[in-house]
Amino acid sequence: MTESVDFVVVGAGMAGASIAYELSQLGASVIVLEAEAHAAYHTTGRSAAFYMVGYGNDVVRGITLSSEAFYGNPPEDFCEHPLLGPLGAMYLAKPLQLPQLQDVYQRVSQCLDNVELVDEAFVYDKLPELKPGVAAGFWEPNSREIDVAALLGGYIKLATRAGVTFVYNARVSSLERIGDSWIISSEGREFCARNIVNASGAWADKLANLAGAVPLGMEPKKRTVCVAKTPEGVDVSRWPLTIDIDETFYFKPESGNILITPADEIPSEPVDAYAEDIDVALGIARFEEAMDVKITTVKRQWAGLRTFVADRSPVVGYDSQVAGFFWLAGQGGYGIQMAPALAKLAAALAVGRSVPDFMVKFGVTSESVSPARYQND
Ligand SMILES: Cc1cc2nc3c(=O)[nH]c(=O)nc-3n(C[C@H](O)[C@H](O)[C@H](O)COP(=O)(O)OP(=O)(O)OC[C@H]3O[C@@H](n4cnc5c(N)ncnc54)[C@H](O)[C@@H]3O)c2cc1C
Repeated sequence: MTESVDFVVVGAGMAGASIAYELSQLGASVIVLEAEAHAAYHTTGRSAAFYMVGYGNDVVRGITLSSEAFYGNPPEDFCEHPLLGPLGAMYLAKPLQLPQLQDVYQRVSQCLDNVELVDEAFVYDKLPELKPGVAAGFWEPNSREIDVAALLGGYIKLATRAGVTFVYNARVSSLERIGDSWIISSEGREFCARNIVNASGAWADKLANLAGAVPLGMEPKKRTVCVAKTPEGVDVSRWPLTIDIDETFYFKPESGNILITPADEIPSEPVDAYAEDIDVALGIARFEEAMDVKITTVKRQWAGLRTFVADRSPVVGYDSQVAGFFWLAGQGGYGIQMAPALAKLAAALAVGRSVPDFMVKFGVTSESVSPARYQND
């Protein structure tokens, strides 16, 4: 058995890597155990990699906005290039969808002043290939591409430098509470920690079961993505991230190609998700229904699990019944854009501090993310 540490973090996706770094900055000793042979094998490695304040509910929005400062000014030596690149995002609405568009605008414009409700002419100027029928748009010019590999790599690099140990091929198979400590069994090895951080993504409820905690109703939902070759004569470089306001599809430019998803949310067990051809075809059909662009070649396709609890806000905090078991889960489709502030919030709560001041001003409260909202019925 290894020497006891303050925290064993289970999972080396964006959640596990980011909280490991933030805990190390608060002086905690940390080991990260990851079941797979490398970090980000599951959901983190399968995202669409965008940052959009208009995407997600008000809690997600507060955490996303709180992350802006980190993206603009990451710690020294974190990365070699900026973490965010230009994109711009647009929700599209047909006449009957205008109330939904208004609703998003009302919510987002309360906390971000450069978003706009734009008319048909603006929309068709941005997307000349759009078929007729769209009446208006919601325009978020500062939506950005996130360099996910750089973000994750920065966390792992600086966490390792601060003394965090990452152990791969280390699936946690049992958790036992003895006195004030946890004994964590993984592939024939044992680790000892005062606290466990559950950053196991789609497996979060399974890990809770191992710890004797009540599962929170985590729902992994599969989303399918493909990258299609841009047809001859089409210029995608000016296209924004484009989302139907009812989120039945979205697409965006992807290194000269087109990333397309049917925005599916297919309930799944926590598994190594893969793309079904029929879901790729559905995404392309919805894209072609919206755009006067014919897709002929799919270059890549994949699927990943976006894991939600019922209110679609993340779950961050100590379990209300099992001592020393800390949740950092339920990031849904927003776990990359929220990662910097979510990790600072989680690390603060994990060492017994309150919500960091810079997040309070964006309306983030510990109650809105607490696991207790699903445990105190
Ligand atoms: C198609 C798609 C598009 C997306 N697009 C975006 C986007 O544009 N912007 C955005 O912000 N978010 C996006 N997301 C969501 C984002 O990717 C996730 O919210 C985020 O990656 C979740 O990170 P995580 O660390 O919680 O999970 P994961 O990356 O899945 O990490 C969990 C880790 O825990 C490990 N694990 C599980 N059980 C155990 C165990 N018993 N022992 C040891 N290790 C274990 C797993 O192997 C896994 O590596 C998207 C997701 C998908 C699928």
